[in-house]
Amino acid sequence: MVILLEPDRSDHAAVVKAVKRAASRFPGIKIKPYEFSGASHRFTEVHLVGRTQGIPTLPFEGIPGVLRVVRVSSKYRIIGRHGAIDSSVGFKANGVFFDDKHLTLIAGLCAVDTRQHVDLMFKALAQEGLTAARMGVYKPRTSPYDFQGLGAKCLPYVFELAGKYGIKIVAMEVVDASQIKEVLAALKKTGKPTQVLFQVGTRNSQNFELLKALGKQKMPVLFKRGMGITLEESLNACEYIASEGNPNIVFCLRGVKTHLGDPHRNLVDFAHVPVVRRQTRMPVCVDPSHSVGSLRETPDGIPDVFHATAQGIIAGATSVLVDFHPNPKEALCDGPQALTFDRLKPFVDYMTKVRRTYEDLAKITVS
Ligand code: PEP
Ligand code: MN
Repeated sequence: MVILLEPDRSDHAAVVKAVKRAASRFPGIKIKPYEFSGASHRFTEVHLVGRTQGIPTLPFEGIPGVLRVVRVSSKYRIIGRHGAIDSSVGFKANGVFFDDKHLTLIAGLCAVDTRQHVDLMFKALAQEGLTAARMGVYKPRTSPYDFQGLGAKCLPYVFELAGKYGIKIVAMEVVDASQIKEVLAALKKTGKPTQVLFQVGTRNSQNFELLKALGKQKMPVLFKRGMGITLEESLNACEYIASEGNPNIVFCLRGVKTHLGDPHRNLVDFAHVPVVRRQTRMPVCVDPSHSVGSLRETPDGIPDVFHATAQGIIAGATSVLVDFHPNPKEALCDGPQALTFDRLKPFVDYMTKVRRTYEDLAKITVS
């Protein structure tokens, strides 16, 4: 059972206390308060865990400051939407919005290869007024003989350069819990010029120890849907992160593995954007680069990566993770799918137009 408090109450601690007092009358029930700092509001919830079927809702509904009491039948106790609390979707991290209202582009190198390429990438983003980036440092590769990422040694210059160009958040995959410490130590050593969005890659979507370790962090997480598991299993994986105390999760669709998706690298699964939005309060991201896997274009000159982006945004995704590279031929990972800088501004314009259309369509649909 979830007891939702009215948002932004200054006396929330007193309301939580009153809820706890009322709940303590029922034996064998665990009482867990949670705080969510949404993009524009602060939310408090008290979760009652255990055999709550026989507990009446009335004693809680009568407490001043309680907004609603929801019987949670779904498994997604924390990430679940639990009946339209729209404004609790998402969060703001170092000034960058990941919510239902703002469109955020997370563009950058699939893998850091040279300092110069990181510099050029951040510079190009800054020129477009963009403040979120992706930078792969630890790369989970299919073959042990492929480039595994530069690892911790590139972190100091990645963070310094992010600070130089006003990049507020860097999405960065960690493939092992020990790397969380390395990343945080490097951030601290460089004077915290930016923040990290810890990325869980598709291959680690059920690495429960990693998920639990990320759940204990304050920095947000970008979770990439497992490529060979059900959507439900991926959502449960996010619940692992949230249940450890970190509800700031962006759910990223990146396609699923099947040859039925050929000639795309993965079968584009962006029709799941509305499903995730309906079932959870996680903001949804799409990754058209790893879904499509090439820069092939339709006869109108529009790359499939753009088309897939449009499919995600028109369905309500509010962030896009996409590979760019100053010289894709020199990229050590995923060069064939990396867009070049001449396409950065057109990509931003394209995304913005599609989002405007989404907003218009949403108005039509609800009016
Ligand atoms: C990536 O984004 O760098 C990546 C490896 O993607 P995925 O985990 O979706 O394959
Ligand atoms: Mn990649």
